[in-house]
Amino acid sequence: MVNKEEKNLPKGMLYVVGTGPGRVEHITPAAQEAIRNSDVIVGYDTYIDLIPELLSGKNVMSTGMTQEVDRCRKAVELALDNQVVTVISGGDPGVYAMAGLVFELLQSEEKKRPGQPLPRLLVIPGISALNASASRLGAPLMHDFACISLSDRLTPWNIIEKRLHAAAGADFVIVLYNPRSKGRAGHINRARGIIGKYRAGSTVVGIVKGAMREHETVIVTDLESMKDSDIDMQTTVIFGNSRTFVWNDLMITPRGYENKFEI
Ligand code: SAH
Repeated sequence: MVNKEEKNLPKGMLYVVGTGPGRVEHITPAAQEAIRNSDVIVGYDTYIDLIPELLSGKNVMSTGMTQEVDRCRKAVELALDNQVVTVISGGDPGVYAMAGLVFELLQSEEKKRPGQPLPRLLVIPGISALNASASRLGAPLMHDFACISLSDRLTPWNIIEKRLHAAAGADFVIVLYNPRSKGRAGHINRARGIIGKYRAGSTVVGIVKGAMREHETVIVTDLESMKDSDIDMQTTVIFGNSRTFVWNDLMITPRGYENKFEI
């Protein structure tokens, strides 16, 4: 919960709040309190639309997905103008989301107006898609994992490929965010091809679409058979490591207990 001291903050405050994978019950009480305490809520319309019950009576500014710089700039301006502002981010705000951008904008504000006070900024964590998806699949992230976004909007594709090779070669469990969009339908197949250079066709793959949302789907398949799976921008894909196994349709990566204890 937001503590007493934080409740007495001066005006001119920025919260960057994670709203988790979908429904309100997966949003922390601290995040809900930040939203309640704010004069203005700024966010991407898809995430705003998921939490109407938290926003009634609020001044809400929602915009499309690719307008995140304008959105965060507006939030910083409002906070500089002594408003208490929440920037809403789906999942966790520090995972491929808004927290870093808001920090960068504040840093550039500081350069523009040296010595002037800046609004306080508090990042409030949320359940990221990898936590939500892993919980639906079983326990695939029990051992070291690498998380890679297949979006090449801000990262060149050759760097994404390099990271896929490195993670696959080191036998990390691999979590893929942004696996597909209209503009880049082939990326997930290219990623699958790279991982397949290092892993068997029988490697377990978990595919979770819309975790904790209406119409959620959960599929446990393997590297060989995943080709025709329905994967879109609401989907997280998890490739098991060489030891990941399936039990009762669940995906489990052993931690190593079986070597230490009788289980
Ligand atoms: N900050 C977010 C991630 C934003 S990137 C977080 O921490 O979860 C957007 C990507 O996250 C999507 O393309 C998808 O891969 C994943 N994602 C977001 N919500 C999801 C959900 N409910 N179920 C499955 N994947 C999800």
